[in-house]
Amino acid sequence: MADDCLFCRIIRREIPSPLIYEAPDCVAFRDINPQAPTHALVVPKRHIASLNEAGDANLLGQLLLAAAQIAKQEGIAESGYRTVINTNAHAGQAVFHIHVHVIGGREMHWPPG
Ligand code: 5GP
Ligand code: ZN
Repeated sequence: MADDCLFCRIIRREIPSPLIYEAPDCVAFRDINPQAPTHALVVPKRHIASLNEAGDANLLGQLLLAAAQIAKQEGIAESGYRTVINTNAHAGQAVFHIHVHVIGGREMHWPPG
């Protein structure tokens, strides 16, 4: 847990953000600035700054399986959705607590901008 990390503060319930999913090692909540009808963030309870610092393959797998579970829960599993992990400046990472974006509910384009 990092004292001043936004997502650690959400996990500690210091900043309100209703959880839409909770498992022993991760949670998910809605993005405050959604880019599509469904836009959730899957976040490990343990503070890991980015994919560059991640070494726990089991935990990373749990984040992806949670993303698929949330897609089902949100009714976008069949229509399709995108899972995104932004890492560092060129990808536009803004919050340095690793998270998987789950984005869906509309058609998306490729390649991303
Ligand atoms: P990144 O750019 O780091 O991959 O994504 C960070 C995401 O966190 C952004 O999509 C942003 O809208 C979201 N975000 C930033 N602050 C908050 C907040 O206080 N609550 C929630 N729920 N999402 C946030
Ligand atoms: Zn954190």
